[in-house]
Parts: sequence; C-alpha cells; structure tokens
Amino acid sequence: MTISVPADVLSRLKAVLGEGGWSQDPDRLAPKLLEWRDRWKGTTPFLALPRTTADVSAIVGICHEAGVPITTQGGNTGLVGGQIPQGEILLSTERLSTIRDVDAFDDVIVAEAGVTLAAVHEAALQVRRRFPMGLASEGTATIGGIVSTNAGGTAVLRYGNTRDLVLGIEAVLPNGEIWNGLKRLRKDNTGYDLKQLFIGGEGTLGVVTAASLKLFPILASRATAVAAVESPEVAIQLLVRAKEEAGGAVEAFELMGRRGVEFVLKNIPNQRDPLHRSYPWYVLIEIASGEPGAAGAAMERLLGKALEDSLILDAAIAQSEAQAKAFWSVRENQSPGQKPEGATWKHDISVPVSQVAKFIAQATAAMEAFAPGCRITAFGHVGDGNIHYDVIRPDGGDDAAHSAKRNEGSRIVHDIAAAMGGSISAEHGLGSMKTEEARRYKSPVEVAALSAIRQSLDPKRIMNPRVFF
Ligand SMILES: Cc1cc2nc3c(=O)[nH]c(=O)nc-3n(C[C@H](O)[C@H](O)[C@H](O)COP(=O)(O)OP(=O)(O)OC[C@H]3O[C@@H](n4cnc5c(N)ncnc54)[C@H](O)[C@@H]3O)c2cc1C
Repeated sequence: MTISVPADVLSRLKAVLGEGGWSQDPDRLAPKLLEWRDRWKGTTPFLALPRTTADVSAIVGICHEAGVPITTQGGNTGLVGGQIPQGEILLSTERLSTIRDVDAFDDVIVAEAGVTLAAVHEAALQVRRRFPMGLASEGTATIGGIVSTNAGGTAVLRYGNTRDLVLGIEAVLPNGEIWNGLKRLRKDNTGYDLKQLFIGGEGTLGVVTAASLKLFPILASRATAVAAVESPEVAIQLLVRAKEEAGGAVEAFELMGRRGVEFVLKNIPNQRDPLHRSYPWYVLIEIASGEPGAAGAAMERLLGKALEDSLILDAAIAQSEAQAKAFWSVRENQSPGQKPEGATWKHDISVPVSQVAKFIAQATAAMEAFAPGCRITAFGHVGDGNIHYDVIRPDGGDDAAHSAKRNEGSRIVHDIAAAMGGSISAEHGLGSMKTEEARRYKSPVEVAALSAIRQSLDPKRIMNPRVFF
C-alpha cells in the first residue's frame, strides 16, 4: 500500500532537498525496496536523500506537521524487514557519509549515519586504532543501521554489542528537532541515558544522524584456528577452556555444523574445506593479545591440550592472513551459502551459554518431527549463547509449502528458547518480522512502558510505524 502524500508536502520536501536530493524514479528506488534475501518487497511514494543533519531535520519536521510516515534506511542489510517501507516515505542515509573526526587521544571516531562499518575500520587504522566490531555485512551496513539495530557480530565476546561501543549520538527527533548528544565521555552519570533509547530503537524514535564510537589499540598478535568437535556440548567445554587459557583475549568463538559448511563449499565460489576430513561440528576461534607472539602461544596451548585430552577431533591454526581469511570466509558465508537451498525459517535466538547444546538438541528433535526431511543448520556466536538456527525446506521440496508452515514452526523454536530463559532476537532486532511475536514473550507491564516511551516522543507514530509496540 502506498500512502498518499499531499502534493504540497512533496513540493516542500523537494524544495528542501534540492536537485539530487530526492527521487521518484522506479529504477533508482528498486534496490532500496527489496531486502537482500528477497523476503520483503516494499513501496514508497518518495525517496529522500538528505546530505546534512539540517536536511534530515527539515524533512522530518515537514512530515511530522503533515502526519506523513517515514521509514529510515541505511545499508539495507537488516534481517527483520524494518528498513523496507510499506508505503511510507523512504529516508536514505546514503549521502550522510562524512567521517567528522578520528582522534587517537580520546580514542574516538565520529561518523555520520551513512558511513559503512568497513569505512570506519579503515579510518581507525589510519590513526593506528581499531573499531572492533565485525559483521559479514560490514562493506554495506552503516553506522546508523548498526546503532539503530544494536548490532552484535563476531567480537561481542570481548567488546560487547554496539550498545557498549557508542559514546554519543546525534539524532533528529520525530518532531524534527535535532538532539546533539555526540559526547565522547567514558563517564557521564547524569540521569537517564537518552542515547541508549536510540541504540536498538530501529528508527522508531527518530533518525540517528551521527555517532561517536570507541576505538581500541591495535593488538600485536592474533591467532585464528578451526577446531573440529563431536557436538555443541563439547564446543562449550572448549569455550570454557579457551577463556581460562587466554584470559580476556578470546575475541571470537563461532560454531558451524557440517551441513552449513557443505552448503558454503557447494554454493559459494572459491571456498576451502577448513580441515582435511569432514567432522560433525567446527568452532572458529580467534585470540588476540597486546603482547607479540602471545596469541599464537595461547592458541597452541589450548588446542594442544584439547587434542591430548581428546576434547577436539582435529584442528588447524592459520599460518597466514590469507588462511585466517579463508577460515572466516566459510563462517561468514553460512547465510549466503544456504540461500540457494530454498525457503528457510531463520531464527536468531540466544540462550544462556550453558543451555546452547540443550537448545540445539531440543529444537532439532522438534523440527524433525514437525517438518520431516527439513535440513537444519545451526551456526553463530556460540560464545555469546547466540545461535542462528535455520530450518531449510527438504531437498527438492516445495518452497511455498515450507514457507506456509513458517509461523507455526518458528513458534515452536521460539518457545523452546523462551523456556530456557532465552530471547527470540539475539542481535537482529524485531523489525516488521518479529514485533508481534515479541509481544508474546514480553510482559504486559513491559509492553505498556515501552509503548509509553514511544508515544511521548512520537505521538503521531510517524517513525517506522510498522515496527515495535
Ligand atoms: C550477510 C549478513 C551478515 C550479517 N551479520 C550480522 C551479525 O553478525 N550481527 C548482527 O547484529 N547483524 C548482522 N547482520 C544484519 C545487519 O547487517 C545489521 O542489522 C546492520 O546493523 C544493519 O545495518 P544497515 O545499515 O544495513 O541498516 P538497514 O538494514 O538499512 O536498517 C536496519 C534498521 O535500522 C533502521 N535504521 C537504519 N539507519 C538508521 C538511522 N540512521 N537512524 C534510525 N534508524 C535507522 C532501519 O529503519 C531498520 O529498522 C547481517 C546481515 C547480513 C546481510
């Protein structure tokens, strides 16, 4: 459904944005209206391409006055449909693309919303610093999107989620006012922390226009390895050992099942099997240390002892950066690798780390009973208790028939996670996909408090109206 926007509102928006600052050309709009897995297709009457925070303020102000809804989009890599408009005006941050400051004294980088994560990595390196977040989508995902989804990624184990990495933000509120909260303080204990509402706010409380982010030293040594294990249970035992052996130096601990690895080898060009033989489960481990040589030594001790104790079946430590990249490529292609296999029910659940193996076992038994012949891949940030648990249609099966059972199947998976004290969305957010489902798992008290916050800032509900309560 396209919402009809009064002609005078469109004229005012065009006047503010100027030539090159807006589009209604279907070819220009098309890639922004399709989600990368083709799961959501959207519509919009107007694409706004603001270049400055003042432009964003003017656009949102006009829409607020007229009661016209807006959906904000960054890199369009979100996995829960929140960035795809269903008739709203689409505000893209692609031209908010300036890195305003990189400071190695304050250890901070200030980047506008449309800057990609990869560009932030690059800019930090220029001052011999590092922004530690890693996402397979980092070449396209933007700082505005990352902040707004409170993205996680592969280094949460050591550095936390986006919430832990943001020092300040600048945002345009739903009435068009600009809030300059671009602080760079490590300590600021002065009441409610407003920026935390925008982090993970998925565009419902306004438009994030810039963020100041924490930088970290570049570490002197880094070791990457793949180890084969018999089961997720053993993977967790190895995680406990890794933390003990390396102290706080474990950066990533990622699980992959054999089926997911095989999909990558089959469907993604130029990939290598990480070990010489095939094994039921793999963990990709990364250790990094400020001390030269220390990461490699810790990895060797960890894997040597684990082999000796028959905890692991096999292992390889990357001998070069290229080999480390090849290991990571198999992990990062777990999702793209399964895409050609057909319709999939995707889940992004978290449970306490101690419950991961039990979750995988229970969910797998339940799915095999509910959807006989389905193909399951379980992979992800097992060190954070976050499993991407995907249920793919049977080999040669019918996509439509599988998709038709999605809601019922996902409900079973979500109920199993919830019964273990888990979450139905560990890192991807709610978007339009999971908002109604989340209502089931939150108490009425929580839903009412969250709705009241939104109502107070956006009484006309113009910002991402399809998302949240
Ligand atoms: C291959 C692949 C791997 C991924 N791996 C991970 C992973 O490991 N961990 C993880 O957490 N996510 C992962 N993601 C999901 C995705 O990359 C993240 O959610 C990312 O943060 C989205 O950024 P984006 O710029 O693409 O945002 P979009 O997709 O454009 O938007 C996402 C949401 O944020 C809102 N939004 C965007 N920009 C703004 C803004 N400036 N102000 C207000 N609201 C805004 C949108 O309205 C929408 O609700 C992955 C995605 C892909 C495709």
